[in-house]
Amino acid sequence: MEQIEVRVPGPTPLPPEVRAALSTPMVSHRSQAFRGLLHRLDQTIRPLLGTEQQVLLLTTSGTGGLEAAVVNMVEPGDHVLSLSTGFFGERFASIAARYGATVDFLRSQPGCPVDPTMVAQRLSERSYRAVLVTHCETSTGVLNPIADIAAAVDRSQERPLLLLDGVSSLGAVPLDMDGLRIDAVVTASQKAWMTPPGLAMIALSERAWQRAEQCSTPRYYLDLIAARSSGIRGETPWTPGLSLMYGLEAALSLIKAEGFDDVVRRHLRLSRRVRAGLEAMGFRLLASPGYESPTVTAAYLPQGVAYESLSGLLESEHGVQVAGGVGEMKGKIIRIGHMGYIGEDNVAYLLESIAASLRQLREGAR
Ligand code: PMP
Repeated sequence: MEQIEVRVPGPTPLPPEVRAALSTPMVSHRSQAFRGLLHRLDQTIRPLLGTEQQVLLLTTSGTGGLEAAVVNMVEPGDHVLSLSTGFFGERFASIAARYGATVDFLRSQPGCPVDPTMVAQRLSERSYRAVLVTHCETSTGVLNPIADIAAAVDRSQERPLLLLDGVSSLGAVPLDMDGLRIDAVVTASQKAWMTPPGLAMIALSERAWQRAEQCSTPRYYLDLIAARSSGIRGETPWTPGLSLMYGLEAALSLIKAEGFDDVVRRHLRLSRRVRAGLEAMGFRLLASPGYESPTVTAAYLPQGVAYESLSGLLESEHGVQVAGGVGEMKGKIIRIGHMGYIGEDNVAYLLESIAASLRQLREGAR
């Protein structure tokens, strides 16, 4: 297969070092070699999430990580507040509802972030077991103001647990989980972590662990108490996605070599360039100014351009894959992932390819 420039918001391109690490020979997952690997991964990921808590690696995609947060903390009948800013906020809420929680919503218009003042207001009206929030809403390219949201939750009288979906932000956007007193943070390998899909990472606060110990919701594969006790011994309860872990270790080495601060700055710089390039070509950005995600951009298509025609040309003529809208945004927008293994050249090629495809579409229409 010819080289594809995969510019969807996950899975993201794999650096050669990660691809090489993926073919590392197997070892027993009950061995000293594995215990070392798991320990190194845990220790290296902690500062990138801003936590001193154990980071658990679950062999599942991001949704499994979100489900793990829910089943270990939410019981049927619990009241949960969903701060939904789009498709992935709705998904997190659906998981809680499926496990019997009563979900109230504080929804934002597409492209708008969560309003922390409204969060404070809602939390003063009734008590909740948990608040669910998405850091980067991948369906709209909005980065929610997590520090202000966390402060509103922290100041509330009953202090519900704050559960954060950081699937498409972490690894590229810094977070101070412990400082902000966030109770659960979930992320996934196929985004800024430059590793194939299949690993979720989750960290819990002390308060969240206490809740998990008391939570009676049935769970087996996603039982975090089991994962934590195995983790302390340097093991996982079940056979882990070992190859993905080797891949992740190589990706983390790349992040360390570049320096996390520089990784963060690179994402900010490249995302600004993507947005400016799209606007210059007649796209209209979805995210409210000041809340644009450094990892994914969503934009309304220029007048008269159909998503399927544009994305079709991008792939067939330029080998560039982009994403369309999901949920209520289907057919209306284009979404571009610019996280992980991406540099200036990739952004230049992406923007040139879009410009060429638009020209071709307009010439065809004449
Ligand atoms: N939450 C967010 C914010 C996401 O971007 C995604 C994946 N696009 C998910 C959850 C679901 O993750 P997965 O597809 O890995 O299950």
